[in-house]
Amino acid sequence: MSGGDRDASDRPETRLAQVGRRREWTSIPGQPGGVVNPPAWRASTILYDDVAHLRSARGNMHERWFYGRKGTPTHWALADALTELEPGAEGTMLYPSGVAAITTVLMGLLKPGDALLMVDSAYDPTRSFCDKMLKPLGIETVYYDPLIGGGIETLVSERTRVIFLESPGSLTFEVQDIPAIVAVAKARGIVTVMDNTWATPLLFPALSHGVDVSILACTKYVVGHSDVMLGSATANAALWPRIQSGAWMFGQICGPDDAWLALRGLRTLGVRMKQHQEGALAVARWLAEHPRVGTVLHPALPSCPGHAEWARDFGGSSGLFGFTLAEADDAARAKFIDALRLFGIGYSWGGYESLALPVDPHYCRSATKWNAADPLIRLHIGLENTDDLIADLAQAFDVIAQRL
Ligand SMILES: *Cc1c(COP(=O)(O)O)cnc(C)c1O
Repeated sequence: MSGGDRDASDRPETRLAQVGRRREWTSIPGQPGGVVNPPAWRASTILYDDVAHLRSARGNMHERWFYGRKGTPTHWALADALTELEPGAEGTMLYPSGVAAITTVLMGLLKPGDALLMVDSAYDPTRSFCDKMLKPLGIETVYYDPLIGGGIETLVSERTRVIFLESPGSLTFEVQDIPAIVAVAKARGIVTVMDNTWATPLLFPALSHGVDVSILACTKYVVGHSDVMLGSATANAALWPRIQSGAWMFGQICGPDDAWLALRGLRTLGVRMKQHQEGALAVARWLAEHPRVGTVLHPALPSCPGHAEWARDFGGSSGLFGFTLAEADDAARAKFIDALRLFGIGYSWGGYESLALPVDPHYCRSATKWNAADPLIRLHIGLENTDDLIADLAQAFDVIAQRL
């Protein structure tokens, strides 16, 4: 067996070991055998055998040699792997960051005069793009309550072309009623695009839930090691031509070494997600019992808005969640985070290491309000021993309990 053998009945963990390893990407033509992983092909110029060959390459360029910007077998292998992990997908485009994937997809689907329905709990740079780039182009963004569900119907106008979902929400973790929103979108001929970075297709196969385009900041869990910026957009057959040509028009591509690192990260996504889930659940449950904690915003806990939708639709939870410090101020929050020994302080998440971040959702809301008076902390639970992480959090609570 040569590797890359696929069977649609294989479960996701099994597919992770096989996807993206087609023989033509791992072997030399005419020679038996081959390598396990598609190597990093670095290329701008592609050489043609003759002029006739050059001319024949002009047609369908998907997964065909053409020019470096259209990718090499390394890119095709990663894109193919992501497509294979998303049942109902036709193809995947790669971008140099998650934000590049979001902005390029939106630019490819919207034109002046159109309206976009954007979830109020969206990743903040997504909001900035709508407010500062789309608005001057005459594309209106209407923000909606993440818990609106089928009520989104009342916000749809003749000009609405795209509904953008992100679930759970960035910073605040509201889980959306995706089937209800998708049903409205389908009835009105509106395209749905989802930022699925938190769950990945392993925990929420977005396209099989009726979403048209699923976007991942691969920077997070796919890469998994905090050392690559990368984005992807995976589309169903109806949307694929527009997603592909939009990415090509904007000249979007990532470096082959980054694609290669993402493919390497992808192989362990299944085991990493299991550990992120287990660790984050243990820490979240421990925090929920702690007297200094206000509320825990973890989709798998009933205290999280949209928990019932999460339990109905998601196959599990990942390592990112939030909690509030009861009766504390910003200074106490800073003291708490600074006292942590094992949690890094930094943006991004999805790597093997734990992180803590002070977050203030007040500033990125318009359709809804973030009313909590207590300061919010976002944690990413990495692959460390969970008892060590809990002990570290416990000593940080002791530090802020000491009054001076
Ligand atoms: C980080 C993140 C992005 C953006 O990804 P980058 O690769 O950092 O550009 C998009 N959406 C969510 C939910 C994220 O957490």
